[in-house]
Amino acid sequence: MGFAGAEALREAVRGSVLVPGDPEYDQECAGFQAGDRHRPDVLVVADGPDDVRAAVDAARRYRLPVAVQATGHGLGEAARGGVLVSTRRMAGIRIDAEARTAWVEAGVRAGDLVAEAARHGLAPVNGSAPGVGVVSYTLGGGVGLLGRRFGYAADRVRRIDLVTGDGRPRRVTADSDPELFWGLRGGGGGLGVVTGMEIGLVPVAGIYGGQLVFDGARHAD
Ligand SMILES: Cc1cc2nc3c(=O)[nH]c(=O)nc-3n(C[C@H](O)[C@H](O)[C@H](O)COP(=O)(O)OP(=O)(O)OC[C@H]3O[C@@H](n4cnc5c(N)ncnc54)[C@H](O)[C@@H]3O)c2cc1C
Repeated sequence: MGFAGAEALREAVRGSVLVPGDPEYDQECAGFQAGDRHRPDVLVVADGPDDVRAAVDAARRYRLPVAVQATGHGLGEAARGGVLVSTRRMAGIRIDAEARTAWVEAGVRAGDLVAEAARHGLAPVNGSAPGVGVVSYTLGGGVGLLGRRFGYAADRVRRIDLVTGDGRPRRVTADSDPELFWGLRGGGGGLGVVTGMEIGLVPVAGIYGGQLVFDGARHAD
């Protein structure tokens, strides 16, 4: 049987609500990891925090688990059933060059933030791949290319907006909710659906780097 709340959810959200059989369902469930993909009862392609809240509300009403996907780089166990929130359309970035901060929505990719911050001579403490989601990378701690000098990405978070499992939208800082703030910065997700975060940027005028790759067939040399 299909998800009974799909019609009500469609009326509640600005983004898309897709169920198995809908033409865009497969494509929207797909992510970077091609070996498997989520197969939720209902997929909410969120257009903003209110859509995320509506998705969590629906999951609560129908007692379904919630999974989140931004880019699919970190697909662990693919969801079978339940509600999947896709944040890929939530790709807004706001830089405050004076304060050296960036506000990133939940679907922002590292490469887009790097490009935007670089216009101000700034950089996030980003990881190695431009396609990875900034939010989830940071929720997992974030060990980046600039890590030796600037530390973990999670240590530069100023504020996190999320919808917790009780359906409440929260604005979490070190002062407002120290324990939740601590758990979010390195816990790897699972404490709610993050809708956006404010992170500190670092001044970077230039980078010298690269990689050495050796031909395995010539290992004897
Ligand atoms: C090619 C590649 C390079 C990488 N390089 C680095 C690196 O240099 N340094 C490093 O530290 N890590 C690195 N990683 C790991 C990467 O940071 C994690 O896999 C990260 O979770 C990917 O996030 P995503 O949003 O792109 O992926 P997704 O698969 O979309 O998300 C992964 C998980 O994060 C959680 N999540 C996503 N969005 C939210 C949200 N809005 N709210 C709550 N939970 C959420 C969900 O549990 C989801 O299953 C790399 C991974 C790959 C594949």
